[in-house]
Amino acid sequence: MTIALTGIDRDALIATRRDLHQHPELGNQETRTSTLVAERLTASGYAVTTGVGNTGVVGVRGSGGRCILLRADMDALPVQEANEVPYKSRHAGKMHACGHDGHVAIGLEVARRLGAASLPGTVKFAFQPAEEISDGAQAMIRAGVLDRPKVDAAFGLHLWNDLPAGTIGIMPGPVMASVDEFEITIVGRGGHAAAPHQTIDPVLISAHLITALQSLISRRRDPFEEGVLSVTQVSAGHAFNVIPGTAELRGTVRTFGGRLWDEAPKLVEDTAKGVASAFGGTVSVRFRRHTRPLINDEAMSGLMRDVATEIVGAKNVRTGVRTMGGEDMSFFLASVPGCFAFVGSAAPNRPASPHHSPTFDIDESSLEIGVELLSRTAVRYLGA
Ligand SMILES: [Zn+2]
Ligand SMILES: [Zn+2]
Repeated sequence: MTIALTGIDRDALIATRRDLHQHPELGNQETRTSTLVAERLTASGYAVTTGVGNTGVVGVRGSGGRCILLRADMDALPVQEANEVPYKSRHAGKMHACGHDGHVAIGLEVARRLGAASLPGTVKFAFQPAEEISDGAQAMIRAGVLDRPKVDAAFGLHLWNDLPAGTIGIMPGPVMASVDEFEITIVGRGGHAAAPHQTIDPVLISAHLITALQSLISRRRDPFEEGVLSVTQVSAGHAFNVIPGTAELRGTVRTFGGRLWDEAPKLVEDTAKGVASAFGGTVSVRFRRHTRPLINDEAMSGLMRDVATEIVGAKNVRTGVRTMGGEDMSFFLASVPGCFAFVGSAAPNRPASPHHSPTFDIDESSLEIGVELLSRTAVRYLGA
């Protein structure tokens, strides 16, 4: 079956992205964004439900046949924008520094095009809050976004400044990492810096523990399984001549699944307890799982890859694009098969600012590529 799509309204696409860029909203506070999304989806002929998982918006069109879910995340970051552009953030300390403004603009344009087409099957859009705080996907799933009608496959994308505009990264298997957080309180006994024998020094315990935690990566991890552990916060003490009573460490473990992911909570806790007890101290460990590894389905990746090849040509479809960053689209893809693609958004031939930086920006030609990719993926999936 051949399904015709209307052309992309490039001006509206860019205008929407710039409007959202000027009005960034943090996770679970996306009220202006979700109002705009709900209005546009309604205008494009979708049955709209708001407040799905806090500020999430769901739009459904069609009935029967296969049901495809297209997901776009809506939240911004607590970053002060340093770009001097006409569409600079109007809200101090908030910025769309990850490209989610573009994801929403792409999603709305895809919705408009698919809304105007006569499609076999059902299209469901999930405009998701709070990706950056790993909350939104799970909240929407708990609120039933994958049911009524039941979703058969899910697709999404991330604008990606590690790739030049005009390229798309797609591969099957794990492409984004699990994100775990640990917080360790080391309890020793404070005292005089000149009399360490009368104390249990939590600063020294911290130093040994940081090294021991890195040894989990070098000695306890299967070298064929990817894994990263970073200790990112260390705090203790308040004077040069006082050994403090406690110290705090905080950090993260990232994996693509496998044994290290399964065992990380126990490994971190056992290591902390063992090291502390060797020096006479004790610990309390809090371990929190934020997101799971994002795993692309083999067949759905193949489908999306074929579509990408049509759009940008085989030489511009990249494999091997993966990151130890996390993404809560992983929860949708753990429930239904699907694929998450990286759409190159760096201006060609010059270095792009990284995601989450105050000078992050995208080459807006990437928006059209994103629209084509999701629109044609939906048509291909439903029409197949
Ligand atoms: Zn981000
Ligand atoms: Zn992001």
